[in-house]
Amino acid sequence: MVEIKDISKCYRDAYQFEKRAEYAKQNKLYGLEVEITRRCFSGCSYCYASFVKKWDTSNELTTKEWKRIFDQAIDMGIRCFSWPGGDALLRSDWDILLEYLKEKGGDEVRHFFASPFSALTDYRKAKRLVELADDLLVHFDSINKSTFLETHPVNRCSSAEWERSLRGIHLLLDAGYDPRHMHLAVPIIKPLIKDMEATFDYFFDYIGVGSYAGGVFKPAGRGWDVARLVPSRAEIRYVYELRAKKMNNPAMLALGPTATGKLYCETTIAVNPEGCVKGCDTLPDSETIADLRQENLKDVWEKNKDSLKCPVPEGHCGVCENRHICYGCRANAYYFGRNWKGSDPSCWNNPDGSEVYNEYLTGIGAASEGPGPESACRHQ
Ligand code: SF4
Ligand code: SF4
Repeated sequence: MVEIKDISKCYRDAYQFEKRAEYAKQNKLYGLEVEITRRCFSGCSYCYASFVKKWDTSNELTTKEWKRIFDQAIDMGIRCFSWPGGDALLRSDWDILLEYLKEKGGDEVRHFFASPFSALTDYRKAKRLVELADDLLVHFDSINKSTFLETHPVNRCSSAEWERSLRGIHLLLDAGYDPRHMHLAVPIIKPLIKDMEATFDYFFDYIGVGSYAGGVFKPAGRGWDVARLVPSRAEIRYVYELRAKKMNNPAMLALGPTATGKLYCETTIAVNPEGCVKGCDTLPDSETIADLRQENLKDVWEKNKDSLKCPVPEGHCGVCENRHICYGCRANAYYFGRNWKGSDPSCWNNPDGSEVYNEYLTGIGAASEGPGPESACRHQ
């Protein structure tokens, strides 16, 4: 049986799985995903956030409001903060917020900062990230520019996005960022799979990133326009087998079709830019259950643990031999199986998944004329 330490060492403790296992036993939260903005200029065709270049920032939480939430989180014992997007670098106070948490929580607090880094053009800002962000999720679609352009049409972003993003990543390296604490996030979506190995080779062998932590594309929000690009189960398996190979660790396959497995997910909840709470950043905003402008984070967690976190999934994920570290991606179960408490149908280890997943794919064909599910995703 795969042990927690077998996967933890591969991530160089970025996710603190051992500590999370302790927290999970006590039904406590270890992580908070803080989506400080939904603005992003990267223009990925499958992302809702990219459509909102003119995202109305007037209702975003202010610096003061985020600090209040951070105070509450630290008091609850939360020690890992992930910064998904939008692109957090587009908020002028991103480093003020990171620094505040560092001072508040001390050395125990870790930051996991996600971005395409195309907006990173300033060496001083790169240095700030070196100082403040313990780990980086690097969203980059393909080392082959023509493939990159397939998911970055010019009506959604600059034709120079590929160069900008690569330049931003190299600026971080020049500023002294340790590449072993960079984690590659290529979303698993059809057009990108043909170059996945070359992209992995570039990032693992040339740059020296520590891991791959990408997830399966879920067509929601504007992503519904490209719903036909949902990968097959065989393609999903191929990418995660490639991850195990590049990370030189077959144990990674025990995480199924998930970026990090269950220890991250069952000890983390998410706050959207307007202060609303949901179980995972990739779920749509219709799944938010509380507003932190009105309530305290601790009260929200105590009152809503059962609706924020899945206990034992129904079906195969609940009895799988990997269930101590994986319970499938709850968002895959939500979108592809229409039941977030069900098993993950996109997993090759789930014998009942094929039928559910194929039914979903057939449904996409039939429904693609109509409106899709609500927005979700970012850095799939
Ligand atoms: S069947 Fe479910 S629990 Fe088992 S590896 Fe796959 S996703 Fe994870
Ligand atoms: S997927 Fe990520 S990088 Fe791409 S547009 Fe959305 S937020 Fe930006």
